[in-house]
Amino acid sequence: MERTLTLDTLKAVGKTVLLKGWVNSVRSHGKIVFFDLRDRSGLVQVVFQNPKDNLKPESVVYVTGKVVKRPEKLANPKLKTGKVEIQASKVEVVTISRELPFPLDTDGHDIDEAVRLKYRYLDLRRPRLNRIIRTRAKLVKFIRDYLTQEEFVEIETPMLTKTTPEGARDFLVPSRLQPGKFYALPQSPQQYKQLLMVAGFERYFQIARCFRDEDPRHDRAYGEFTQLDLEMSFVTQNDILELIEAMYTAMVKEVFPDKTISQSPWPRLSHEQAVKKYGSDKPDLRKDNQDPHELAFAWIVDFPLFNQQTQEDFFHGAGKNAKLAPSHHMFTSPHPDDIPLLDKNPLKVRGLQHDLVLNGYEVGGGSIRIHDPKIQRKVFELIGFTKEQEKQFEHMLTAFTYGVPPHGGIAPGIDRLLMVLFNEPNLREVIAYPAVASGQTAVVDAPSQATPEQLKELHLKLVK
Ligand code: ASP
Repeated sequence: MERTLTLDTLKAVGKTVLLKGWVNSVRSHGKIVFFDLRDRSGLVQVVFQNPKDNLKPESVVYVTGKVVKRPEKLANPKLKTGKVEIQASKVEVVTISRELPFPLDTDGHDIDEAVRLKYRYLDLRRPRLNRIIRTRAKLVKFIRDYLTQEEFVEIETPMLTKTTPEGARDFLVPSRLQPGKFYALPQSPQQYKQLLMVAGFERYFQIARCFRDEDPRHDRAYGEFTQLDLEMSFVTQNDILELIEAMYTAMVKEVFPDKTISQSPWPRLSHEQAVKKYGSDKPDLRKDNQDPHELAFAWIVDFPLFNQQTQEDFFHGAGKNAKLAPSHHMFTSPHPDDIPLLDKNPLKVRGLQHDLVLNGYEVGGGSIRIHDPKIQRKVFELIGFTKEQEKQFEHMLTAFTYGVPPHGGIAPGIDRLLMVLFNEPNLREVIAYPAVASGQTAVVDAPSQATPEQLKELHLKLVK
């Protein structure tokens, strides 16, 4: 017999069906056992007489039985299939589940996170997480469809690459074929996407994984995260903001219909205004921040192009002794009106940077880029690049001598957006297999030691 999904039992009243799934919860009433069977489509109640062995929750079972209508009074409004139940003639236990390390019928927030992550494959059975991960897929699909419709081309860029300056430490991967050399995992596809504009694609996007070795916070995952990376040619800053605003507004309507966007069009504040008025460059503009359904998007523009350099900014890729560091990244274009200030008073120069803010979180950032090699060299100089450092980006300057279109883009974070949309307290709740603060990964025990043979092959020696 072919398998029927639990949700489809509604359409199969009077028929005998074969269901496959997990035992969700068991209630024994003497000789009669009731249990809910769970599969990807949901739950259905099964009634079974005289079971031989007792059924363990979370075991996998195949149930053969007749779908019957429940009497009106006994219908369960909490289940989509609550109007029917299965009168089982056979319950085959396919695999047994041991007792679980934690309950699955709570939201799980109060369970020790280390244990939840060790058994993430069980934690993901929890309805809350299951819903988040499924909705995440819907959101990504919405974005893909929307941008494809808008003539964007989805293009993958390399994971094994060279340092891309986004203000964090790189993860390095040793090369076996070229002793003593290393790849860096991309902090973002920034340079590749700009080069795709030189290549003439005009509209690029990617659901991109980015790797940054920086200290985690509740709204910053350790190690890797996902962003919607996009870039466009022949556009103004306004075009980029309008595209994202229209797409996210449509996305919220379709994927999060319970949410309301508090102000439309989204307010646009200059960096200076935001800091003056709200004391923050990511202000929470919700009218009622007790309301879990309110979404207050805003754009912050006119950031200063440079910040005063601090010790940590060394990882921005800035020169060691520089006085200035890029406040977004070194490819951000200065405001055209402020170009004369680059020499006179660089800290007064505004950049064509835009940040997207939602309920007090930064959920995306981007800029119009520099496309004039002279200005790019000037920025390199101002951030204290040595000739050596400048050489690392020579390919960009070279590419820009072959007919580069004016271009710009943005990279909204997917994880952080979902965290806010689901009102979750941290990013790990919206990622299937997140790493914890110490850098330990979920389920598998990484990072772990390499064997002496592996190290030898990679030409590496560990110092004690
Ligand atoms: N690459 C930038 C980032 O990851 C985004 C951008 O400028 O498009 O923040």
